[in-house]
This record gives sequence, structure tokens and C-alpha cells, in this order.
Amino acid sequence: MKTSFERREFPLQHPFTIARGTQETAANVVVRVEDDAGNVGVGGAAPSSHYGETAGTVEAVLPDLLDVVERVDDPHALSRIESEMRTVVNDNPAARAAVSIACHDLAAKRADLPLYRYWGLDPSKTLDTSFTIGIDDPEVMREKTRDAVEAGYDTLKVKLGTDRDEELLSAVREAAPEAAIRVDANEAWSPREAVRNIEWLADCGVEFVEQPVPAENREGLKFVYERAALPIAADESCITASDVPAVADRCDIANLKLMKTGGLREAKRLIHAARAHGLEVMCGCMIESNASIAAAAHLAPLLDYADLDGSLLLAEDDFEGVPMPEGRIDLEAMDRPGTSARET
Ligand code: MG
Repeated sequence: MKTSFERREFPLQHPFTIARGTQETAANVVVRVEDDAGNVGVGGAAPSSHYGETAGTVEAVLPDLLDVVERVDDPHALSRIESEMRTVVNDNPAARAAVSIACHDLAAKRADLPLYRYWGLDPSKTLDTSFTIGIDDPEVMREKTRDAVEAGYDTLKVKLGTDRDEELLSAVREAAPEAAIRVDANEAWSPREAVRNIEWLADCGVEFVEQPVPAENREGLKFVYERAALPIAADESCITASDVPAVADRCDIANLKLMKTGGLREAKRLIHAARAHGLEVMCGCMIESNASIAAAAHLAPLLDYADLDGSLLLAEDDFEGVPMPEGRIDLEAMDRPGTSARET
């Protein structure tokens, strides 16, 4: 087995603002693992500073993680690779996710199967990804919404958590009267403020609200969940499968991300844990290229909601992945094995 990695900076289509700040480029790290027959698996890390990672920290730990792959020397030993990686580097989930994705891509390529078939999943049970409208001036959000609707996206995710949330959401709703709208406050509200806001959001026909209050305010999340007029999704409050029992009585939806779980196997564990606790499941993402989004798309048959627009928010992506015409994650249109991530 041979391994390598390299940093890529992707420009975004628009500066991307959420309650915590603005991002203008996405620094991803692309990982490759190659078997002796020359099959190459590709994965990507999209580190998030919110979880203490940067492209630099990813690059710092990848040599140790890729040592694990070379030492195990079996691309199908996915369970062993993920658990040994956790022993070597317990934090740094985006770095571990990149290696996990690359190994899954390689394993499925060796079997000559798309990843969803390697897993035995039903590709007809797919769904649409939402398309995210970041925080901006109301006129700009209205314009971005018009563009998104024109491009065929009929499920939007709107970032809120400002002092003019009603104005912003109204601008989006006016521009997309028919769209399904989900709202993500990224921890910005107090519990009482959240309950009040969710009342008018329900009047605007919003579908659900993600992470209304800070992750550390567990009682606050429960306060909101017990009073909210809409379903609540937990994102920053739900990182790995072991967080599921603690949020199960204070949200309706668990939002997993590969860059939080640190790998595809842990992502599937989270899905099953959430189901066992009666939660619905969404898969979200960071601003990511198809080096990693392509893999997350194969989880679609296991999900209730998908928020996998990471590559769609880039001005250009060096990788193509699973086709998403008008937001529909089209696994059946896949014509190549693995995750389908391919450098363009
Ligand atoms: Mg979120």
C-alpha cells in the first residue's frame, strides 16, 4: 500500500457567513491510498476550526494515520483501520475521515462496485440535498435564493442567528414561496429567544430548526425541544454515536457529518444509534470538495434528510462525485466503482 496527501484551497462561489463568522475559501486536504495493483482510493478532509482543526493540523497528523493504513496493509480491513486510527490520534476527526473515505473508496473499487452497493444499500431510497443560503444582506439573500430556485433546488437551508433574523427569513421566503425551508441558527440563540423565534418560523412554513442554542447548554436544548413549535435538529450537540443517548430526549433529528464522526463506519454507527433512540437522521457537511462529499452521498438511502451541498457552494471543485441534478442525489446514475470521486 502506498499513501500520500496534499492541501487544496477551493474558492467559494460567495463568501459563506453563519452565526459564528465568514469563510471565503475552503482549505481541504486530499488523501490517496493505493494498492499494489494500482487502484487508488481518494478521500478529503474539510477541517473545521470550530472543532479545533485546520488544514495544518490535518497535515500534522496524517503521516501517523497513513502509517496505520500501511501497517495494516489490507484495504478491506476498514474496521481495524478506523479503530487503530482512533488509538493513534483520538481528536482530529476530519483527518481520520479523509483516510476512512479513501480506504472505503479503494475497497469498493477493488470489488468493482459503487460504495452503496458494496454496503448493500438501495439506491432508489435516495433523497434531495438542501442548498444553503448563508447570512448576508436581505437583498443578497433574496438574490441567492432566486438563483437557487432557478437552478432547481426546492429544499433550502437558511443560516440565521443575527439581530435581524425575521427580515432575512422573509426575504428568502418571498423569493422561494414554494420551497421547503430549514433553518440553522448555529448555536446563536438563547433558549427563550429560540422558542420565540421558532414560533414565527413555524408561521413561515419552516420545516425544522437546527442547533438553536449553544451545544454546551444541554438544559437549554431540552427547554427549547419541550416548547418548540417545530422539530429540532442537533448538530454541534451531536458529534459521534456516543453523543446520541444524551441528545435523544432533547431533539428530533441527529445531524451527522463525516468531519465530526471521523469516518464512514462511525457515521453508520451514529445512524443506527439515532434510529434505535427514535431519532430521524440528517447528514450534513462542511464546505467540502467531492473528494469527501461523494462518499457521504452513498449514505443517502440510510437518511431522512441530506444537507450535502458542500461541493455545490464551491466556485470550482477539482473533483466530480455523485450526480446531484437539481439537488437530487442520483446514486443510480453512477457509472463507476468506489465513491465516484474523480479528479476533473
Ligand atoms: Mg449545522
